Amino acid sequence: MYKDFQNYLRKELDAIYEAGLAKEERIIVSPQGAVIKLDNGKELLNFCANNYLGLSNHPRLKQAATKAFETHGYGMSSVRFICGTTDLHKKLEKKIAEFFGTEDTILYAACFDANGGLFEPLLTEEDALISDALNHASIIDGVRLCKAQRFIYSNGDMNELEEQLKKTQNLRFRVIATDGVFSMDGNVAPVNKIVELANKYNAMVMVDESHSAGVVGETGRGVTELYNCRGQVEMLTGTLGKAFGGAIGGFTTGKKEIIEMLRQRSRPYLFSNSLPPMVVAAGIEMFNMMSETNALQDKLHNNVKYFMDQIQKVGFDVKPTQSAIVAVMLYDAKVASEMAKKLSDEGIYVTGFSYPVVPKGQARIRVQLSAAHEFEHIDKCVKSFEKVGKEMGVLKK
Ligand SMILES: *Cc1c(COP(=O)(O)O)cnc(C)c1O
Repeated sequence: MYKDFQNYLRKELDAIYEAGLAKEERIIVSPQGAVIKLDNGKELLNFCANNYLGLSNHPRLKQAATKAFETHGYGMSSVRFICGTTDLHKKLEKKIAEFFGTEDTILYAACFDANGGLFEPLLTEEDALISDALNHASIIDGVRLCKAQRFIYSNGDMNELEEQLKKTQNLRFRVIATDGVFSMDGNVAPVNKIVELANKYNAMVMVDESHSAGVVGETGRGVTELYNCRGQVEMLTGTLGKAFGGAIGGFTTGKKEIIEMLRQRSRPYLFSNSLPPMVVAAGIEMFNMMSETNALQDKLHNNVKYFMDQIQKVGFDVKPTQSAIVAVMLYDAKVASEMAKKLSDEGIYVTGFSYPVVPKGQARIRVQLSAAHEFEHIDKCVKSFEKVGKEMGVLKK
C-alpha cells in the first residue's frame, strides 16, 4: 500500500531539496543563550533565538521549576477541566491578566493553540474576520477553522482595513485580527489606528503579542503599552515560548466573557493536555521578575539601538524596527544565503530569508537581539558582518 505514496513523497521531498528550500536542524548541546555549543564542538554567538529577555536559562526560572517539580510533580495527565488545573495554573492566569491590564486569561499548550481555538467558539457565518495579510500561520489557521466570513487587508494598510470595515457593516460582529510585531521586518502593527477604526466602525480587535510581549513598550507590556491603549483591545494572545522564558505555553487574555466562553468551547483547551506545573511555576516567577524591575527591557532596548547604529555605520541597509528584530537587507536571495553561511563560519548564527518567505528582491538576514547579549557580542557580530560584507562587495559607500 505504501509504495506509491512513498514514491510520491520522495519526489516532492527531492523537489524541496533541489529548490534550496529545505529546513535543516542544527544540533545544540548547550542551554539556549548568547553563546551556544553545537554537537560538532563549535561555539556560535546566537543572534537568531526568540530569547529576547535572555530568560531561557535563567537561574530564578530554573529554581522555580525545580521547586514545583518537587511540590506538584512532573505531568498533569489531564486536560484542564477534568483534573488538570492546579493552584499554579490559576495563579499564572492571573499574573498574565495583571501584566497586560486585562480582565481574565486562559492558558493553552502553545500560542498556536490559542490562535487555533480563538475564533471558532466566538463567531459564526453571520460575522466577519478581518485579517492582516502578513499574520502568523496560527492566526491564519484559526481564521480558517472559524465559519465567519474572511476579509484581508495588506500589511498595516489602514485604508484597506477601513474599506473592509465599510464592506462588512451589514454583518453581525466584526473582529480585526493582527500580529503585534511582524516577524520578517520587525515592524509593529499600528494598533492605535486599528483601535480608532474599530471604534468608528463598531468592530473588536485581536492582537497576537507573541513577538511583542516582554519587548515592545517601555516596560515590555507589548503594543497596547506602546500605543497607550491598554484595556482597549478585546483579545490578546501570546506565547511563553519567546521572551517569557522560552519553554512552552500560550494564552489568550482579554474581556471576561470571551475567556469564559473559551473555557466552555475552545477545542485546543478542551481536548489537549494541561501545561506541566514546572513550566507554569517558572512562568509565575518570570512575571514576578517583570514586576520587580525593568532592567532586562532596558538592556534589550539599548542592545537593539546599539546594533542598529553600528550595523548602519559599517554600510548595511536595515529596515526600521520597533522590536528586537532587525532585517539586514541584502535584496538578492543568493547573497543572503551565502552571507548567512559565511557568518556562521565566522561564529555568528543568523538566518537568511528570501522568497517565498519575504517578497522577491527583498532577501535579508534577520538578526534577533537579546538582553543576554553584551556589547562585546554585538561588536563581534557587526565586525563579522563587515568582514563578510567587504569580501562579498555588498557594503554601501
Ligand atoms: C511564535 C508565534 C506563535 C506560536 O507560538 P507558540 O507558543 O510557539 O505556538 C504564534 N503567533 C505568533 C505571532 C508567533 O510569532
